[in-house]
Amino acid sequence: MHYTCPSCAAINRIPEDQQQKLQAQCGRCKQPLFNGHPVELNDSNFQRFLLKNDLPVVVDFWASWCGPCQMMAPVFTQLCGQMQQQMRFAKVNTEQAQQTSAQLGIRSIPTLIVYHQGKEIDRLAGALPAPQLQQWLQAALNKIH
Ligand SMILES: [Zn+2]
Repeated sequence: MHYTCPSCAAINRIPEDQQQKLQAQCGRCKQPLFNGHPVELNDSNFQRFLLKNDLPVVVDFWASWCGPCQMMAPVFTQLCGQMQQQMRFAKVNTEQAQQTSAQLGIRSIPTLIVYHQGKEIDRLAGALPAPQLQQWLQAALNKIH
């Protein structure tokens, strides 16, 4: 299974075995691949990240001035720690990645989009508490499998 390194973006081939997978390190920079933190994406690496990861990807589109985004950030990181073996968690700062945000028609923030192999699976506008957000993510995963 292919998995891009959250530290250096190198493409790694990782084992399917659950235990081995969690301990996997990047072949290039030797950092842990499952570090429990969302990956920051921008206009230049967004498409590559979607296409080079075999796991589904959930992206949080946010902005520094957005109150609900600030409230949801720790929830998103918490769920990343819990669900990182099932899906990748990524964040896009819409003030910096203006091209990507415009292309995707992001009109309100926070907006969350789940992708699988580059295709949009589901989209959510607005923040949710952790249990509801986890349910929404699980429902999106169920659409894929
Ligand atoms: Zn690396």
